[in-house]
Amino acid sequence: MPIYDFECRQCGHKFTLLTGVSERDKATCPACGSSDLRQLISGCAVKVSGGSGSGSAGGGCGGGHAGHGGG
Ligand SMILES: [Zn+2]
Repeated sequence: MPIYDFECRQCGHKFTLLTGVSERDKATCPACGSSDLRQLISGCAVKVSGGSGSGSAGGGCGGGHAGHGGG
């Protein structure tokens, strides 16, 4: 399950959500309940702890050559 980091624009509260994409859209600030959130990009904060290799071709880490972000 993916993790999403958010920052509330109302109170500035930062929190992390461990939910699906569908839930992500209707996320609200746990502190003030505002839905005016800003999603934070947590670069390569993924820890790969041994195990079976998923064979991920072309990771996302490193300098990206194509301006992908938006915002
Ligand atoms: Zn808030």
